Amino acid sequence: MLSKILGFALLMLCALASCGVSPEWDNHGYGWEHDAVSSNGIKVSWSRAAQSGNWADELLMHPEFYERTWQRMKDCTGMDGPTDGMYIVLMPADYIKRRYGPNIGGKYYSDPPLIVAGETAFLVRHEIGHHFLLHTTGDSDHNHVTAMFQTPNGCTFTVPWN
Ligand SMILES: [Zn+2]
Repeated sequence: MLSKILGFALLMLCALASCGVSPEWDNHGYGWEHDAVSSNGIKVSWSRAAQSGNWADELLMHPEFYERTWQRMKDCTGMDGPTDGMYIVLMPADYIKRRYGPNIGGKYYSDPPLIVAGETAFLVRHEIGHHFLLHTTGDSDHNHVTAMFQTPNGCTFTVPWN
């Protein structure tokens, strides 16, 4: 009986301290709330970026933008990736720099799939590129050696902004 109580106490402590929690528990720390779902099933959250008062591109507050960009990246790269369970969370650029590093504008997580990006269309395309690469070649190309990341001819630069 005592060991049961101790076990329960440990479990409660773990729950409070989040020990041993896997990344899918809270969507890599970004949670599951979203502002819209695009017609191809991507859950999109822009309100945290919009609340920063530093909003760069109004276009990003329309769910159609994400479906259109996804399709254009498919057409341009000849690659694809599942939209199943995909979240795109826009965050203030300052937050992303603080969390990931001074030269970082976005972040791609594969499992569960999550794109975190600053408030520009370019960054959204860039992270979609990492997702497509992972699901097409098996390597998300963290070091950006693939053609799509190379300026001026790569798809992340040439796919239209709007
Ligand atoms: Zn990248």
